[in-house]
Amino acid sequence: MTILTAAESLADLVGNTALLKLQSLSQLTQCEIFVKCEFQNPGGSVKDRAALQMVLEAEQSGKLKPGMTIVEGTAGNTGIGLAVVAKSRGYNLKVVMPKGQAKEKEQLIELHGAELVLVDAVPFANENHFYHTARRIAEQNPDYWWADQFENTANSNAHFLTTGPEIFQQTDGQLDCFVSVAGTGGTLGGISKYLKQKDPDTKIVSVDPDGSGILNFLMNGKHQATAGSSFTEGIGIMRLVNNFKQGKIDYGLNLPDSDIVTVANYVRKQDALVLGSSSALNVTAALYCAVQTGPLNGGKPQKIVTIACDAGERSVSKLYNEAFLASKNIQSDAQSIEHLIERYKTEINRLQHVEFNL
Ligand code: PMP
Repeated sequence: MTILTAAESLADLVGNTALLKLQSLSQLTQCEIFVKCEFQNPGGSVKDRAALQMVLEAEQSGKLKPGMTIVEGTAGNTGIGLAVVAKSRGYNLKVVMPKGQAKEKEQLIELHGAELVLVDAVPFANENHFYHTARRIAEQNPDYWWADQFENTANSNAHFLTTGPEIFQQTDGQLDCFVSVAGTGGTLGGISKYLKQKDPDTKIVSVDPDGSGILNFLMNGKHQATAGSSFTEGIGIMRLVNNFKQGKIDYGLNLPDSDIVTVANYVRKQDALVLGSSSALNVTAALYCAVQTGPLNGGKPQKIVTIACDAGERSVSKLYNEAFLASKNIQSDAQSIEHLIERYKTEINRLQHVEFNL
Protein backbone atom coordinates (compact mmCIF):
# COMPACT_ATOMS: atom_id res chain seq x y z
CA MET A 1 0.00 0.00 0.00
CA THR A 2 1.33 3.46 -0.86
CA ILE A 3 1.08 5.87 2.05
CA LEU A 4 0.69 9.44 0.87
CA THR A 5 2.14 12.06 3.19
CA ALA A 6 2.10 15.85 3.07
CA ALA A 7 5.25 17.69 1.93
CA GLU A 8 6.79 20.08 4.45
CA SER A 9 7.84 22.66 1.84
CA LEU A 10 7.56 23.37 -1.88
CA ALA A 11 11.16 22.24 -2.39
CA ASP A 12 10.21 18.77 -1.13
CA LEU A 13 8.06 18.40 -4.24
CA VAL A 14 11.03 18.57 -6.63
CA GLY A 15 11.62 15.36 -8.62
CA ASN A 16 9.78 12.03 -8.91
CA THR A 17 8.09 13.16 -12.12
CA ALA A 18 5.98 10.95 -14.37
CA LEU A 19 7.13 9.28 -17.58
CA LEU A 20 4.54 9.69 -20.34
CA LYS A 21 4.32 7.61 -23.52
CA LEU A 22 3.56 9.72 -26.57
CA GLN A 23 0.97 7.48 -28.20
CA SER A 24 0.77 9.42 -31.45
CA LEU A 25 4.46 9.40 -32.39
CA SER A 26 4.96 5.89 -30.96
CA GLN A 27 2.27 4.53 -33.28
CA LEU A 28 3.57 6.38 -36.33
CA THR A 29 7.10 5.02 -35.81
CA GLN A 30 6.29 1.56 -34.32
CA CYS A 31 8.62 2.54 -31.47
CA GLU A 32 7.99 3.68 -27.91
CA ILE A 33 8.70 7.36 -27.36
CA PHE A 34 8.46 8.66 -23.79
CA VAL A 35 8.79 12.10 -22.23
CA LYS A 36 9.89 12.71 -18.65
CA CYS A 37 7.38 15.27 -17.40
CA GLU A 38 9.71 17.79 -15.78
CA PHE A 39 6.99 20.45 -15.99
CA GLN A 40 5.52 18.67 -12.93
CA ASN A 41 8.24 20.15 -10.73
CA PRO A 42 6.97 22.98 -8.45
CA GLY A 43 8.82 25.68 -10.43
CA GLY A 44 7.59 24.08 -13.65
CA SER A 45 10.89 22.93 -15.16
CA VAL A 46 13.77 20.48 -15.15
CA LYS A 47 15.93 23.21 -13.57
CA ASP A 48 14.24 22.82 -10.18
CA ARG A 49 16.34 19.70 -9.63
CA ALA A 50 19.60 21.54 -10.34
CA ALA A 51 18.52 24.49 -8.19
CA LEU A 52 17.77 22.24 -5.20
CA GLN A 53 20.97 20.21 -5.48
CA MET A 54 23.16 23.34 -5.87
CA VAL A 55 21.64 24.80 -2.71
CA LEU A 56 21.91 21.54 -0.75
CA GLU A 57 25.59 21.05 -1.67
CA ALA A 58 26.42 24.69 -0.88
CA GLU A 59 24.75 24.34 2.51
CA GLN A 60 26.68 21.14 3.20
CA SER A 61 30.02 22.71 2.25
CA GLY A 62 29.27 25.78 4.39
CA LYS A 63 29.37 28.23 1.43
CA LEU A 64 25.69 29.08 1.86
CA LYS A 65 24.53 30.08 5.32
CA PRO A 66 21.12 31.19 6.69
CA GLY A 67 20.21 34.76 5.77
CA MET A 68 22.50 34.93 2.73
CA THR A 69 21.44 35.99 -0.78
CA ILE A 70 21.71 33.60 -3.71
CA VAL A 71 22.74 35.20 -7.04
CA GLU A 72 22.39 33.52 -10.42
CA GLY A 73 22.53 34.35 -14.13
CA THR A 74 19.92 32.45 -16.13
CA ALA A 75 17.72 32.38 -19.21
CA GLY A 76 14.85 32.04 -16.73
CA ASN A 77 14.04 28.50 -15.64
CA THR A 78 16.96 28.18 -13.22
CA GLY A 79 15.85 31.50 -11.74
CA ILE A 80 12.34 30.17 -11.18
CA GLY A 81 13.73 26.92 -9.70
CA LEU A 82 16.04 28.83 -7.38
CA ALA A 83 13.18 31.14 -6.39
CA VAL A 84 11.15 28.12 -5.27
CA VAL A 85 14.07 26.60 -3.36
CA ALA A 86 15.35 29.91 -1.90
CA LYS A 87 11.97 30.85 -0.45
CA SER A 88 11.44 27.35 0.96
CA ARG A 89 14.82 27.37 2.68
CA GLY A 90 14.94 30.98 3.84
CA TYR A 91 17.28 32.76 1.41
CA ASN A 92 16.94 35.91 -0.68
CA LEU A 93 17.50 35.62 -4.43
CA LYS A 94 18.78 37.96 -7.15
CA VAL A 95 18.29 36.71 -10.70
CA VAL A 96 20.22 38.21 -13.64
CA MET A 97 18.49 37.55 -16.95
CA PRO A 98 19.17 38.64 -20.54
CA LYS A 99 16.43 40.77 -22.09
CA GLY A 100 14.30 39.11 -24.80
CA GLN A 101 13.42 35.88 -23.00
CA ALA A 102 9.72 35.01 -22.68
CA LYS A 103 7.97 37.62 -20.50
CA GLU A 104 6.19 34.77 -18.69
CA LYS A 105 9.50 33.71 -17.11
CA GLU A 106 10.38 37.22 -15.93
CA GLN A 107 6.94 37.53 -14.35
CA LEU A 108 7.17 34.18 -12.57
CA ILE A 109 10.56 35.02 -11.05
CA GLU A 110 9.09 38.17 -9.53
CA LEU A 111 5.88 36.43 -8.44
CA HIS A 112 8.04 33.91 -6.55
CA GLY A 113 9.55 36.82 -4.64
CA ALA A 114 13.00 37.10 -6.25
CA GLU A 115 14.66 40.32 -7.41
CA LEU A 116 15.11 40.48 -11.19
CA VAL A 117 18.05 42.25 -12.86
CA LEU A 118 17.65 42.51 -16.65
CA VAL A 119 20.76 43.00 -18.80
CA ASP A 120 21.24 43.36 -22.57
CA ALA A 121 21.63 40.07 -24.45
CA VAL A 122 25.31 40.21 -25.49
CA PRO A 123 27.92 37.58 -26.49
CA PHE A 124 29.72 35.73 -23.71
CA ALA A 125 32.97 37.59 -24.37
CA ASN A 126 31.26 40.85 -23.33
CA GLU A 127 31.72 41.57 -19.59
CA ASN A 128 28.06 42.61 -19.41
CA HIS A 129 26.83 39.12 -20.33
CA PHE A 130 24.36 37.85 -17.69
CA TYR A 131 26.87 35.23 -16.52
CA HIS A 132 29.65 37.76 -15.75
CA THR A 133 27.16 40.23 -14.29
CA ALA A 134 25.87 37.63 -11.80
CA ARG A 135 29.44 36.71 -10.82
CA ARG A 136 30.38 40.39 -10.29
CA ILE A 137 27.30 41.09 -8.17
CA ALA A 138 28.13 38.08 -5.96
CA GLU A 139 31.80 39.07 -5.65
CA GLN A 140 30.86 42.52 -4.39
CA ASN A 141 29.12 41.27 -1.25
CA PRO A 142 30.39 38.63 1.22
CA ASP A 143 26.79 37.70 2.07
CA TYR A 144 26.03 36.73 -1.51
CA TRP A 145 26.54 33.25 -2.95
CA TRP A 146 26.78 32.68 -6.72
CA ALA A 147 25.13 29.39 -7.75
CA ASP A 148 27.06 29.19 -11.09
CA GLN A 149 24.90 26.57 -12.81
CA PHE A 150 27.35 26.21 -15.73
CA GLU A 151 30.46 25.22 -13.76
CA ASN A 152 28.93 23.99 -10.49
CA THR A 153 28.58 20.22 -10.98
CA ALA A 154 25.95 19.96 -8.26
CA ASN A 155 23.74 20.72 -11.29
CA SER A 156 24.57 17.53 -13.26
CA ASN A 157 24.82 15.66 -9.96
CA ALA A 158 21.11 16.34 -9.41
CA HIS A 159 20.36 14.37 -12.56
CA PHE A 160 22.91 11.65 -11.80
CA LEU A 161 21.30 11.17 -8.39
CA THR A 162 17.62 11.55 -9.28
CA THR A 163 16.48 11.92 -12.93
CA GLY A 164 18.76 9.17 -14.29
CA PRO A 165 17.70 6.57 -11.68
CA GLU A 166 14.03 7.53 -12.12
CA ILE A 167 14.21 7.00 -15.90
CA PHE A 168 16.02 3.69 -15.46
CA GLN A 169 13.36 2.49 -13.04
CA GLN A 170 10.42 3.77 -15.08
CA THR A 171 11.67 1.88 -18.18
CA ASP A 172 12.57 -1.31 -16.25
CA GLY A 173 16.15 -0.76 -17.37
CA GLN A 174 15.10 -1.57 -20.97
CA LEU A 175 16.01 1.72 -22.60
CA ASP A 176 17.60 1.84 -26.09
CA CYS A 177 18.17 5.57 -26.43
CA PHE A 178 18.13 8.80 -24.42
CA VAL A 179 17.89 12.15 -26.22
CA SER A 180 18.51 15.59 -24.74
CA VAL A 181 19.14 19.23 -25.50
CA ALA A 182 21.77 21.06 -23.45
CA GLY A 183 21.91 24.54 -21.94
CA THR A 184 24.43 23.98 -19.18
CA GLY A 185 24.51 20.26 -20.02
CA GLY A 186 23.42 19.38 -16.49
CA THR A 187 20.47 17.28 -17.64
CA LEU A 188 22.34 15.56 -20.48
CA GLY A 189 25.54 15.20 -18.43
CA GLY A 190 24.06 13.71 -15.28
CA ILE A 191 21.47 11.43 -16.90
CA SER A 192 23.84 10.07 -19.56
CA LYS A 193 26.52 9.37 -16.95
CA TYR A 194 24.02 7.37 -14.88
CA LEU A 195 22.46 5.46 -17.80
CA LYS A 196 25.85 4.55 -19.34
CA GLN A 197 27.02 3.30 -15.95
CA LYS A 198 23.97 1.01 -15.79
CA ASP A 199 24.16 -0.09 -19.44
CA PRO A 200 26.94 1.06 -21.79
CA ASP A 201 24.81 0.00 -24.79
CA THR A 202 22.19 2.70 -24.17
CA LYS A 203 22.67 5.23 -26.97
CA ILE A 204 22.92 8.87 -25.92
CA VAL A 205 22.01 11.60 -28.41
CA SER A 206 22.76 15.30 -27.94
CA VAL A 207 20.37 17.50 -29.93
CA ASP A 208 21.18 21.07 -30.74
CA PRO A 209 19.19 23.96 -32.30
CA ASP A 210 20.40 25.98 -35.29
CA GLY A 211 23.04 28.59 -34.43
CA SER A 212 24.52 26.65 -31.51
CA GLY A 213 28.06 25.26 -31.28
CA ILE A 214 27.50 21.90 -29.58
CA LEU A 215 27.29 19.71 -32.70
CA ASN A 216 30.53 21.06 -34.16
CA PHE A 217 32.20 20.77 -30.79
CA LEU A 218 31.25 17.09 -30.61
CA MET A 219 32.64 16.58 -34.13
CA ASN A 220 35.89 18.51 -33.99
CA GLY A 221 36.33 20.01 -30.51
CA LYS A 222 35.52 23.57 -31.66
CA HIS A 223 32.38 25.47 -30.72
CA GLN A 224 31.57 26.76 -34.21
CA ALA A 225 27.93 27.78 -34.59
CA THR A 226 25.83 25.87 -37.11
CA ALA A 227 24.06 28.01 -39.73
CA GLY A 228 20.90 29.93 -38.86
CA SER A 229 19.40 30.75 -35.50
CA SER A 230 16.68 29.43 -33.21
CA PHE A 231 13.82 30.85 -31.17
CA THR A 232 14.23 28.11 -28.54
CA GLU A 233 15.32 29.44 -25.14
CA GLY A 234 17.81 28.23 -22.55
CA ILE A 235 19.61 25.77 -24.82
CA GLY A 236 22.62 25.68 -27.14
CA ILE A 237 26.03 26.78 -25.99
CA MET A 238 29.25 28.19 -27.46
CA ARG A 239 31.79 27.06 -24.85
CA LEU A 240 32.72 23.93 -22.90
CA VAL A 241 31.46 23.98 -19.32
CA ASN A 242 31.89 21.53 -16.43
CA ASN A 243 28.35 20.20 -16.48
CA PHE A 244 28.39 19.40 -20.20
CA LYS A 245 31.75 17.68 -19.65
CA GLN A 246 30.02 15.03 -17.52
CA GLY A 247 28.19 13.77 -20.63
CA LYS A 248 28.70 10.34 -22.17
CA ILE A 249 27.45 11.08 -25.67
CA ASP A 250 27.34 8.79 -28.74
CA TYR A 251 25.68 10.99 -31.37
CA GLY A 252 25.18 14.67 -32.13
CA LEU A 253 22.14 15.91 -34.02
CA ASN A 254 21.04 19.34 -35.22
CA LEU A 255 17.43 20.13 -36.20
CA PRO A 256 15.76 23.33 -37.45
CA ASP A 257 12.96 25.31 -35.78
CA SER A 258 10.57 24.57 -38.68
CA ASP A 259 10.61 20.85 -37.74
CA ILE A 260 10.03 21.69 -34.07
CA VAL A 261 6.89 23.64 -35.00
CA THR A 262 5.45 20.69 -36.98
CA VAL A 263 6.08 18.22 -34.15
CA ALA A 264 4.90 20.54 -31.35
CA ASN A 265 1.57 21.16 -33.10
CA TYR A 266 1.08 17.49 -33.93
CA VAL A 267 1.68 16.42 -30.32
CA ARG A 268 -0.52 19.27 -29.06
CA LYS A 269 -3.43 18.11 -31.24
CA GLN A 270 -2.97 14.33 -30.87
CA ASP A 271 -1.76 13.89 -27.28
CA ALA A 272 -3.05 17.17 -25.77
CA LEU A 273 0.47 17.85 -24.51
CA VAL A 274 1.57 21.46 -25.04
CA LEU A 275 5.35 21.28 -25.17
CA GLY A 276 7.77 24.10 -24.44
CA SER A 277 10.18 24.89 -27.28
CA SER A 278 13.24 23.03 -25.95
CA SER A 279 10.98 20.06 -25.14
CA ALA A 280 9.61 20.20 -28.67
CA LEU A 281 13.17 20.00 -30.00
CA ASN A 282 13.77 16.99 -27.73
CA VAL A 283 10.64 15.24 -29.01
CA THR A 284 11.52 16.06 -32.63
CA ALA A 285 14.95 14.49 -32.07
CA ALA A 286 13.36 11.43 -30.44
CA LEU A 287 11.12 11.13 -33.51
CA TYR A 288 14.18 11.45 -35.72
CA CYS A 289 15.96 8.63 -33.86
CA ALA A 290 12.84 6.42 -33.97
CA VAL A 291 12.53 6.87 -37.74
CA GLN A 292 16.25 6.41 -38.49
CA THR A 293 16.92 3.44 -36.22
CA GLY A 294 13.47 1.78 -35.85
CA PRO A 295 11.19 -0.42 -38.00
CA LEU A 296 10.47 2.31 -40.58
CA ASN A 297 14.10 1.92 -41.64
CA GLY A 298 14.37 -1.86 -41.15
CA GLY A 299 15.54 -1.72 -37.50
CA LYS A 300 14.05 -3.11 -34.29
CA PRO A 301 11.39 -1.20 -32.31
CA GLN A 302 13.22 1.31 -30.13
CA LYS A 303 12.43 2.48 -26.62
CA ILE A 304 13.42 6.15 -26.53
CA VAL A 305 13.22 8.63 -23.64
CA THR A 306 13.52 12.38 -23.78
CA ILE A 307 12.71 15.32 -21.51
CA ALA A 308 9.72 17.67 -21.40
CA CYS A 309 11.91 20.39 -19.84
CA ASP A 310 9.06 22.81 -19.15
CA ALA A 311 5.43 23.31 -20.20
CA GLY A 312 4.14 25.12 -23.27
CA GLU A 313 2.81 28.16 -21.43
CA ARG A 314 6.39 29.55 -21.34
CA SER A 315 6.49 29.29 -25.15
CA VAL A 316 3.10 30.79 -26.04
CA SER A 317 4.63 34.04 -27.28
CA LYS A 318 6.99 32.29 -29.72
CA LEU A 319 6.41 28.60 -30.60
CA TYR A 320 2.60 28.92 -30.62
CA ASN A 321 2.36 32.48 -31.98
CA GLU A 322 1.64 32.59 -35.73
CA ALA A 323 2.69 36.24 -36.09
CA PHE A 324 6.03 35.57 -34.38
CA LEU A 325 6.61 32.46 -36.51
CA ALA A 326 5.79 34.43 -39.68
CA SER A 327 8.51 36.95 -38.70
CA LYS A 328 10.93 33.96 -38.75
CA ASN A 329 9.54 32.76 -42.12
CA ILE A 330 7.93 29.70 -40.56
CA GLN A 331 4.37 28.60 -41.31
CA SER A 332 2.99 26.17 -38.75
CA ASP A 333 1.04 24.16 -41.36
CA ALA A 334 3.78 24.15 -44.01
CA GLN A 335 4.67 20.45 -43.58
CA SER A 336 2.61 17.52 -42.29
CA ILE A 337 4.01 15.02 -39.80
CA GLU A 338 3.84 12.34 -42.51
CA HIS A 339 5.92 14.52 -44.80
CA LEU A 340 8.44 15.14 -42.02
CA ILE A 341 8.75 11.42 -41.27
CA GLU A 342 9.23 10.63 -44.96
CA ARG A 343 11.98 13.26 -45.10
CA TYR A 344 13.69 11.84 -42.01
CA LYS A 345 13.51 8.35 -43.58
CA THR A 346 14.97 9.29 -46.93
CA GLU A 347 17.44 12.11 -46.31
CA ILE A 348 21.08 11.46 -45.40
CA ASN A 349 21.36 10.30 -41.78
CA ARG A 350 21.96 13.39 -39.65
CA LEU A 351 22.98 11.41 -36.55
CA GLN A 352 26.69 12.10 -36.33
CA HIS A 353 29.05 9.87 -34.35
CA VAL A 354 30.79 11.85 -31.64
CA GLU A 355 34.43 12.09 -32.64
CA PHE A 356 35.64 14.25 -29.83
CA ASN A 357 36.21 12.75 -26.40
CA LEU A 358 34.85 14.97 -23.64
N1 PMP B 1 15.12 23.65 -21.61
C1 PMP B 1 14.88 24.82 -21.02
C2 PMP B 1 13.56 25.50 -21.30
C3 PMP B 1 15.83 25.40 -20.18
O1 PMP B 1 15.58 26.58 -19.60
C4 PMP B 1 17.06 24.74 -19.98
C5 PMP B 1 18.11 25.33 -19.07
N2 PMP B 1 18.48 26.62 -19.34
C6 PMP B 1 17.29 23.52 -20.63
C7 PMP B 1 16.29 23.01 -21.42
C8 PMP B 1 18.60 22.82 -20.55
O2 PMP B 1 18.89 22.27 -19.32
P1 PMP B 1 20.39 22.07 -18.85
O3 PMP B 1 20.86 23.38 -18.29
O4 PMP B 1 20.30 21.01 -17.82
O5 PMP B 1 21.23 21.66 -20.02
